[in-house]
Amino acid sequence: MSIPIATAATATPPAAVGVPTEDVTPAPVLFAYAHPDDEAFGSAGSIALLTGRGVPVVLVCATRGEAGEISDPRLATRETIGAVREAELRAAMAVVGVADIRLLGYRDSGMAGTAENDDPRAFVNAPLPEVVAQLAAQIRAVRPTTVVTFGADGIYGHPDHIYTYRATAAAVEVAADPDQPTGLGEPWRVDALYFNAIPRERIEAMAERSDGPFRSMPPEERAKLGTPEAEIDTIVDVADLRERKVRAIRAHQTQVGEGGPMANLPPEQVAQFLSREFFRRAPLPWEVSAPGQDPLGVLAQETAAVPAD
Ligand SMILES: [Zn+2]
Repeated sequence: MSIPIATAATATPPAAVGVPTEDVTPAPVLFAYAHPDDEAFGSAGSIALLTGRGVPVVLVCATRGEAGEISDPRLATRETIGAVREAELRAAMAVVGVADIRLLGYRDSGMAGTAENDDPRAFVNAPLPEVVAQLAAQIRAVRPTTVVTFGADGIYGHPDHIYTYRATAAAVEVAADPDQPTGLGEPWRVDALYFNAIPRERIEAMAERSDGPFRSMPPEERAKLGTPEAEIDTIVDVADLRERKVRAIRAHQTQVGEGGPMANLPPEQVAQFLSREFFRRAPLPWEVSAPGQDPLGVLAQETAAVPAD
């Protein structure tokens, strides 16, 4: 099976693994997500803060979100939705200063239990070692200090989100292992790995609404969504970036119609939801900078976010 990969970034001169070069351009931060729009809801504010400070951001997206909703039939058809969502992703990322977008070319697997799960092209049906190798190759090519992806919860349990988490967490280790060839670049150790999170308490509050996106989910399933607030160690206050974050989200036009996660919420609650982005720093099997020393940790400290209310 041949998977198209976007062209790798221009290789930087060899540097000691994990040690920043003297280069004036800071090393990139790599975000790995499953669908166009994952990045906008979860981290558009942090991405805008990073690029605003001159930190290059690279976005790897596993699929084109082909199983996603079509909010307005004038925007796309089932045949064109993948191409339309790729264009939406590029537009959304342009709002926050990101042009380097690498699509892994898998197909959206759809929500758990849908027919899309069985499509042989579905992301979740790709062999894990193949996906890990692709992501490890991207990490070696990009040489990011920090990688951000989903956690084991996948925010709300989407199979593609969980698969992205599994593959990216493994790829970070494969990329660092000199015994693992990937065909792209020298071994590279990232300095920090973060899992994008939503506080479980926040999801529960959303689920309580009669028209909320999780209303049909049994309470025992709902209780497993998101990340308990106590486990979230990195909060970036993006209130000042809210207008840009909203523009990035709205660029995903096919996804932001009726029934979206923010639909029918009172404006002050939407503003509160959009004002903070949440991450959990994952342990790595090698020596890394102290918390707060990596680009995302610096953002969390400098925006001086206090724990969610
Ligand atoms: Zn998604």
